[in-house]
Amino acid sequence: MASFVPMRIELPRCDQVADALSELLDGDLDGPVAMRVEIHLATCPPCARLARELAATVAALRRRGRRAGRGPR
Ligand SMILES: [Zn+2]
Repeated sequence: MASFVPMRIELPRCDQVADALSELLDGDLDGPVAMRVEIHLATCPPCARLARELAATVAALRRRGRRAGRGPR
C-alpha cells in the first residue's frame, strides 16, 4: 500500500493531528511539524474534513472576537 513514500519522515497519527490542528491554525507549529500534519491531511480525508471545520470555526471566532472587542459604537 505505502509503496511510494516521497520522504522518510514519521507521519503523525490521527489523534496527534487533531491535537496539532489548533496550533497549526494559529501558526504555532514549526515548519517541519506543520508539513507532516499537512501531509497527513492530504492522505486522510476524515482529518482533512476536521481541519476544514476547525479552520472555519477559528475564523468565525476571530471575526466575532474582533467585533466584540471594538463594540457597536
Ligand atoms: Zn487522520
